[in-house]
Amino acid sequence: MTSDGPFYVSLADARAIECNGCGDCCDSRRTDGYWTWGSLPADQFASLNDGAPLIIPLEREGDGAWRDRAVRSEDESELFPTPFRCTAFQPQADGRGLCGHHDRERPARCGEYPVHVPYLERELAEYGEVPLSTGEFPRCSWYAMVVVRDDDPRISDARPPGLVE
Ligand code: SF4
Ligand code: SF4
Repeated sequence: MTSDGPFYVSLADARAIECNGCGDCCDSRRTDGYWTWGSLPADQFASLNDGAPLIIPLEREGDGAWRDRAVRSEDESELFPTPFRCTAFQPQADGRGLCGHHDRERPARCGEYPVHVPYLERELAEYGEVPLSTGEFPRCSWYAMVVVRDDDPRISDARPPGLVE
């Protein structure tokens, strides 16, 4: 293991870590299109946003610039990766970002990433380890972490940076 990880953590420890608000999972442009939305409903969560679309699909133009596009039927599929921006996202001068909906109901997905995703417990039970999908998020509190079973001896290695004792 290097100082860059991987860091092996129990599920409880992983869930004790707090999001640092880097904002990189709130807008596909911040990971050059790597991070996308899945299962985007046709109303784009307008029901949570005073009737206005919350999540806006994006597409790339020939020169590489991003532009808004209309929602399509395929965006509703869990398997279809939809590049997006969020109208509630508030970029900050220090490079991080605030959620303008932090005190309101948000899409479930917003609170799930990366340690409350629905499949985590099942995959941990089945495989004994689950690398978190944070590889493209070097600023994320959970960067380079692998969730393992409580009795996994690799947990005794260096503590991950985001884990507060
Ligand atoms: S609602 Fe908040 S947490 Fe969800 S994508 Fe928008 S800014 Fe991020
Ligand atoms: S990438 Fe990680 S630390 Fe950054 S906002 Fe998302 S969950 Fe929080």
